[in-house]
Amino acid sequence: MFTKILIANRGEIACRVAATARRLGIRTVAVYSEADAGAKHVAVCDEAILLGPAPARDSYLRGDRIIEAARASGAQAIHPGYGFLSENAEFAEVCAAAGLVFIGPPAGSMRAMGSKSAAKQLMEGANVPLVPGYHGDDQDPQLIQREADRIGYPVLLKASAGGGGKGMRVVERSEDLQAALASCKREAISSFGDDKVLVEKYLTRPRHIEIQVFADTHGNCVYLHERDCSVQRRHQKVLEEAPAPGMPAERRAAMGEAAVAAARAVGYVGAGTVEFIANQDGSFYFMEMNTRLQVEHPVTEMITGTDLVEWQLRVAAGQPLPKRQDELAIHGHAIEARVYAENPEKGFLPSTGTLRCMDTPAHAAFALGGDAAAPAAVRIDSGVRAGDAISPFYDPMIAKLIVWGADREQALARMAQALAEFHIVGLATNIAFLKRLVEGDAFARADLDTGLIERNHASLFPPAAPAPLDALALAGVFLAASGNPASPAANPADPWAGTHGWRMNGSYRRVLSFADESSAAAGGDNAYRIGLTYGRDSWTLDAQGASHALQLVTDDGGRLAIRLDGRAVRGTVRRDGDVLHVFCGGAHHQLAWNDPLAHAGEHEAAGGRLTAPMPGKVVAVIAANGQAVKKGEPLVIMEAMKMEHTIAAPSDGLVEEVLYQVGDQVADGAPLLAFKAA
Ligand code: ADP
Repeated sequence: MFTKILIANRGEIACRVAATARRLGIRTVAVYSEADAGAKHVAVCDEAILLGPAPARDSYLRGDRIIEAARASGAQAIHPGYGFLSENAEFAEVCAAAGLVFIGPPAGSMRAMGSKSAAKQLMEGANVPLVPGYHGDDQDPQLIQREADRIGYPVLLKASAGGGGKGMRVVERSEDLQAALASCKREAISSFGDDKVLVEKYLTRPRHIEIQVFADTHGNCVYLHERDCSVQRRHQKVLEEAPAPGMPAERRAAMGEAAVAAARAVGYVGAGTVEFIANQDGSFYFMEMNTRLQVEHPVTEMITGTDLVEWQLRVAAGQPLPKRQDELAIHGHAIEARVYAENPEKGFLPSTGTLRCMDTPAHAAFALGGDAAAPAAVRIDSGVRAGDAISPFYDPMIAKLIVWGADREQALARMAQALAEFHIVGLATNIAFLKRLVEGDAFARADLDTGLIERNHASLFPPAAPAPLDALALAGVFLAASGNPASPAANPADPWAGTHGWRMNGSYRRVLSFADESSAAAGGDNAYRIGLTYGRDSWTLDAQGASHALQLVTDDGGRLAIRLDGRAVRGTVRRDGDVLHVFCGGAHHQLAWNDPLAHAGEHEAAGGRLTAPMPGKVVAVIAANGQAVKKGEPLVIMEAMKMEHTIAAPSDGLVEEVLYQVGDQVADGAPLLAFKAA
């Protein structure tokens, strides 16, 4: 076995490979880009070597630098993860030439499967079922037209060198084919440098079912059953599960054997995935083979009690597969959800920013199971921590959330619960969307096909609901009790140390007003006003037109337990600047607090200067001297205690002069810019 490996990747997969290596006593070398100097994968490895600037082509795709790093550090093998160089046959050859083991299949197998067209020709020879289609070398547009007409519409045009859902066009009618072909070829050449396309019958309501295969250098090849990855958006997987719901044992064996035949046909070694597209009636066809570890491999690990990275390392070191086919049973059910920094409401556009807070589900294991008898019920594979940034340079995945259950029903319930406990503040995520998806009827009934998300659009994207009373009560308690965490240092008997607002004469009442950012984003404009009348150990909450008895039971750093009219309510409140993020009942409410004190200085700005609200550093100057601005427009951004604060225009007006530059340290209360109200 190796004693030191280099991990030529970043993020969650680099961390995941490092975890197995550590368990096996293998030292790890991380590589990183300038953007990742403080990244988690660098921290979890034993050594780290800088590759270059942030863009992947200058860092994670620099095979030459990676090899140099492996040599300099004395690593014997390179694990490529997925993406980047993982399916690059040339890189595998260069590794071998440098005397390094590439932890993956032989270059020949990668090349054979690298082109979707060539792979199909090979599979035809190995008697693996194919979708009716044309995958020939002759790319004459008239020939492609005739073939598409013969196959029958709708057809799917696919870039032969494509991947990641790019370079595909559905064509509904013969007369639309030429235009779609031209546009598909344009996208193919610009994305993959190769404009070859193939034509396939476009299946309606298909399922994506893939088989995990593993081969060693001793002639053994097994399948570790299937994963159902039908829940997709724009041909990209969102939820993956194993086993596939409703899969009869005979079909499982037939697909498994077809996948093994596919792997054997290309002399495969290591971990691979054979992707099939299946009709609702169960008939299935080969789509392509991915010659690497897949993002969704953890669901297979959970149901088979294996550690696939360990298998990869053993096979690469020349050892035989740890298990025979008849030793690979299915135990329970596993589901994976991909948690992304993205905005489902805005067409799943990626979002970037800093993870100000990341609360992960209770009892989640960050390590790996590999124990079939007692798999972890909840596992998180993540390459980021609170405080890290999701940058525009790489994939915006935050984490993979994987759950195991004795059956699908239990796995589903665990997934819903884990998503409710996964709290992220700082950027838009798909967590709430995922929760609606796993709780939705279609997924619960396993009514699966690749169109599930689009078909259920209305229920998956409901209009934003106003914040419920529970959320307002939690926000109120948080503000009323924050800074008063029943500090053990303070003398509880000292009436002057209390901040509970109790007054000797009469009671103290506070009115708090919030704007609901969650529904504002969705087009609503909910504003709330609540009243809190302080009692001795409790409050009277006036909200939604009624009075309620409110009490704080426990406050564990923002994890609140309260009593509302005698009812126990739990929730977590995280504050980011003026915005309170209230997580309760599985929902995430963003309440922008109109803090009268925070904006106390605003009126002074009418004819004067905008001042720094705290000591800190200027990180961005957005306004220019002489610029006319509208009320609320950001002018300067400051950073203090790792938090960013935006200084916005208090009214419409003119920026007369900005007094600081980016990088300047500013004292509390210092004038930042001269502003003239309009
Ligand atoms: P990529 O390599 O870009 O991931 P694939 O060939 O694996 O492309 O296809 C990705 C997805 O596109 C599949 O999971 C499926 O949802 C859809 N798809 C592919 N081929 C067909 C087809 N013939 N009919 C219907 N949908 C298809």
